Amino acid sequence: MSGPPNMSAIVNTEHTGIDETGFEKLNVKKPSVNKTMTAEPQPSITTDVLIIGAGLAGLSTALALPKSLSITILSKAALETCSSHYAQGGIAASLDKDDSIADHVADTLIAGAGLCATDNTTTILSAGQQAVQWLCAQGVPFTQVSHINDTQQNNIQNNVQNNILNGKTVKAATDAVAGLKTANLHLTKEGGHGCRRVAHADDATGRHIMQTLSAQAQAATNITILPYHEALTLLTETSNKSLNGTSLTVQAAASNPHQHCQGAIVFDHNTQRQLTFYSRAVVLASGGLGQLFQRATAPNVCVGDGVMMAWQAGCRLANLEFIQFHPTGVALGTSNFLVSEALRGEGGHLYCPQTGKRFMLDLDPRAELAPRDIVARAIAEQINNNGLGFVHLDVSHLPADFLQQHFPQIYQTLLDLGIDITTDPIPVAPTAHYSCGGVVTCANGLTDVQGLYAAGEVAYTGLHGANRLASNSLLECVVVGRNIAAHLPRYLEAMSKSSKNTKPSTKSASSTSTFTSNLASNIWTPLQIADTQTIALPSFGSIAEHEEAFNINGNIHVDNNDDIDGITAKLKSLMSSHMGIMRSAEQLEQALVQIHQWQHECQCFSLEGSTKFNSLSHFQLTRQLQLATLIIQSAYQRCESRGGHSRKDYPLLASQPLISIIEPFLANKTDSIDNAMDGWHQPRVNNISSEPLLAVAAV
Ligand SMILES: Cc1cc2nc3c(=O)[nH]c(=O)nc-3n(C[C@H](O)[C@H](O)[C@H](O)COP(=O)(O)OP(=O)(O)OC[C@H]3O[C@@H](n4cnc5c(N)ncnc54)[C@H](O)[C@@H]3O)c2cc1C
Repeated sequence: MSGPPNMSAIVNTEHTGIDETGFEKLNVKKPSVNKTMTAEPQPSITTDVLIIGAGLAGLSTALALPKSLSITILSKAALETCSSHYAQGGIAASLDKDDSIADHVADTLIAGAGLCATDNTTTILSAGQQAVQWLCAQGVPFTQVSHINDTQQNNIQNNVQNNILNGKTVKAATDAVAGLKTANLHLTKEGGHGCRRVAHADDATGRHIMQTLSAQAQAATNITILPYHEALTLLTETSNKSLNGTSLTVQAAASNPHQHCQGAIVFDHNTQRQLTFYSRAVVLASGGLGQLFQRATAPNVCVGDGVMMAWQAGCRLANLEFIQFHPTGVALGTSNFLVSEALRGEGGHLYCPQTGKRFMLDLDPRAELAPRDIVARAIAEQINNNGLGFVHLDVSHLPADFLQQHFPQIYQTLLDLGIDITTDPIPVAPTAHYSCGGVVTCANGLTDVQGLYAAGEVAYTGLHGANRLASNSLLECVVVGRNIAAHLPRYLEAMSKSSKNTKPSTKSASSTSTFTSNLASNIWTPLQIADTQTIALPSFGSIAEHEEAFNINGNIHVDNNDDIDGITAKLKSLMSSHMGIMRSAEQLEQALVQIHQWQHECQCFSLEGSTKFNSLSHFQLTRQLQLATLIIQSAYQRCESRGGHSRKDYPLLASQPLISIIEPFLANKTDSIDNAMDGWHQPRVNNISSEPLLAVAAV
């Protein structure tokens, strides 16, 4: 940065009532849902960097950015409601003296089944040790080989003092100690890894990491955290211009190569009002989409909002069909508790409860430690073939004190559910867990839209290919988050330099910002992807108008939320039954037809004679139905079985591994909503009755 930022976190207190000196940071009570939407003027807030998502990707980015920037972080619900908080196993990195980055890359590529982007994979995994060291420096209490006793603690303390006295800066001294701790980490082994490589904090790694980083972020004076603030749509150059005068219109960047992101429209659940956030850059860190499925490990905020916002703003999406199912979700009632892979890493066995057979032995030389897709498929087959609801994971042959000491959270949670893992087998079944695809992003987090970065589960960097290697995702959040923090100030500098060179003149706002972003584009190089297949989708057409309608809607009473909730629940069930571990053209076609019907019903929920959304849940459902369609269509067009994608009708690998690409959504503003929706529905039904469409484009 050439100087201090000229934009600070300013809140229009006249409208929001939020204190200018700081937002309420934590413990915001979940507000009761007011069933009306207000049409009062939208308060606006200005910040240097807007981060959408307060999981590991969002907080890593925020904490690594220069302190001179004002940063606002949005979280859709409470801060701890994110996947990062629930991560158990740990974070993978090449840390052991007998391990190497090349070995970590090799294991990742094998798990990814031919679809990993090798360059990005190597770049991200090479930064693994620094990422873990950075987390240690933030104070994350990773489990050490031998628990550090008081004397060692004092030594470490003295080390810091000595380093400072010897002229090292506090940061260098802290880094040195973090290095010391990294060298002493206790590492576990998980499925698909050739050696012990996973750093962890007991069996609640995510909770420990997130508590540490949240405390750091709350203490930082340049960071404002806003829980219960839900981003609805991104502002791009065109939308910003129109917000000044006329109405909100979101336009795809693909139609304008100089498009850049300038903020977001946000719904504040605390006050039940919409806010407009203007920012110089936006970081999407909104997590995955597991909650589109009935059984999912992710919390309910993870419904793919970021994927849809990015796509509507003009970003490509990749490999959405690769949903990873975790093999060992606890199959007890409605519990979505996960039993970490580390239990199998330490010697846990899987048995068919009916035959008592340890079935993995016949299926893979790595037995229970085969990659996730293989184990999940094997469990699903056992369940289906034997008419069961679960299989058994058994660790009762391991020493009881070892289990209690190494897996305290799993031990206690299952004990509360009535299962003592030191003596009883655990009923487990596969559960939707991770989205390997997402918003196309390079290893520095750059998307297709200038000023819009993405990190974490919302993004596709190519690291996970067709199947994520266990514990690589937390690593990706930290590495890409830190890479964004290194790149973003350079982008802002380029933007501010070019705007200084641009005299305020008779030029229109749009030509000025086009000039600005032209200069910034010199440092903005989105990911190029070779060997792709384009997913054929009819135009959605009406999304921009839908958002406009939502935005200007006023005081509308919601009288059909039951229907909306009903369809939302049925959608989850449909995704689990028809877009689950085993897929077929027939099932996917049925799912698309069903969703088409729901989309039609959804349209009818709009007020009579109007095309407006009548509530936030109506808006959310519409978007989830659209995303479900994108995912299913991607699965439909992948006529092979690879990694996490298994087709009964195409059981073999295709000869060439191709990345599925969904091109950016292009708003057709001249279409009426009705025309656009007709355009959307009709070709879909035609496609279903014909052979799968495979438009292959090797780029
Ligand atoms: C139970 C479980 C165990 C796991 N164990 C491991 C493990 O051991 N190792 C590993 O590497 N990975 C693990 N994973 C995967 C890993 O935890 C996630 O991939 C990773 O934490 C994702 O981080 P994130 O920051 O991208 O998203 P999240 O941590 O999910 O955070 C998403 C954030 O975005 C916010 N958000 C979403 N939509 C909006 C919106 N519209 N507006 C505003 N905010 C929004 C949410 O409120 C939340 O703050 C596990 C996942 C689960 C669910």
